[in-house]
Amino acid sequence: MSDRDPREKQPSAAEAARRSGRRAVMPPVSHASTILATSLSDFEAMRSARRGDDLTYGVHGTEGSYAFEEAIAELEGGWRTRLCSTGLTAVTAPILCYLSAGDHLLMPDTVYEPMRGFCDGMLKRLGVTTTYYDPRAGSGVRELIRPTTRMVYLESPGSLTFEVQDVRAIAAVAADRDCWTAMDNTWASPLYFKPLEHGVDISIQAVTKYLNGHADLVMGAVTTTKEAYPTLQQGWATLGLNAAPDDAYLAHRGMQTLKLRMERHWRNGLALAEWLSQRPEVAMVAHPALPDDPGHALWRRDFTGAGGLFAFTLRETFSNRAQIEALFDGLERFGLGFSWGGPESLLIPIDPSRVRTATRWPRAGAATGQMLRIHVGLDDLDLLTDDLRLGFARMSRAA
Ligand SMILES: *Cc1c(COP(=O)(O)O)cnc(C)c1O
Repeated sequence: MSDRDPREKQPSAAEAARRSGRRAVMPPVSHASTILATSLSDFEAMRSARRGDDLTYGVHGTEGSYAFEEAIAELEGGWRTRLCSTGLTAVTAPILCYLSAGDHLLMPDTVYEPMRGFCDGMLKRLGVTTTYYDPRAGSGVRELIRPTTRMVYLESPGSLTFEVQDVRAIAAVAADRDCWTAMDNTWASPLYFKPLEHGVDISIQAVTKYLNGHADLVMGAVTTTKEAYPTLQQGWATLGLNAAPDDAYLAHRGMQTLKLRMERHWRNGLALAEWLSQRPEVAMVAHPALPDDPGHALWRRDFTGAGGLFAFTLRETFSNRAQIEALFDGLERFGLGFSWGGPESLLIPIDPSRVRTATRWPRAGAATGQMLRIHVGLDDLDLLTDDLRLGFARMSRAA
């Protein structure tokens, strides 16, 4: 015979936890499709709630993903943030939300490459035309704005070649002509640059990179001003965009150390850029925090730190296939792979000339050797310089 009286209800620890008001440091992860209403009138309230603004259905978010969105919105200084499953969705979907057939879009020539496929393929098919502009145009983008232009897109520094944009000047011109501005701010993270404070309406993060910071998931986030939010909210609800609860939790956890990690990426990245610019094998280093970089003045005016991603060009005499292979195929610290923003340091060959249509790369008079993109992870700086020093020695022997 059991010693518990079957009519006596066991104490509910779950209920006690709910009532206590106490909480764990991190918000709970809730997995849900269905969310249960407390009454018929509560169900009716769920049905009429603005989707994504309340707990109604797993498609639009759950407690944990909402908590992560709030943390990002706070760091960005924005009204609301919405998550989606990849950084690529975060750069493409806002354009579907804000633009219509017949509209015109301005894109920097240095935009994250997959965006070109979206603009020149799907958007073109839907009747939206794109003009690529020189990222250094500043208020000169005024000349490219047509009566049908509805959005000026920015990415600063630009992918692969790291041109810094005059965000304030471009945003002012766009606002004057009633155009939305959206900016891919992945490089600096919202810690070192806050687009909305510079007049931008829509700030985009590939959470995949620094916000998560551990190279173990893909995700995107879009943050807007109060004025821009209703259109984004409606688009997100219409397309059913969302991020998975476990990934949102991991990225939220990763973001707790953003400040510590960014400091390391910035300091070691800049130190390595300085080291590279002293090397005889290197013709040019593109890093906005270097004093002689063409974007340095704008970087110093607007940014409070730097990402660990930059590029450099080898001298022409070190750029044949055998030399490049000798460099890469003996590296011990640097990995060779897509993406960036995690603890891993990465080195890959790049060819910006292949993807530019509005500007020339290399610029007139600039070095024409092999270009490489580097991500300085969380490794010790001397291990990275040792790895490159040995790599450069192999490269020279292969000459
Ligand atoms: C990686 C990246 C993206 C896309 O993010 P994914 O999560 O890889 O889809 C967008 N913009 C920039 C600048 C990026 O580096």
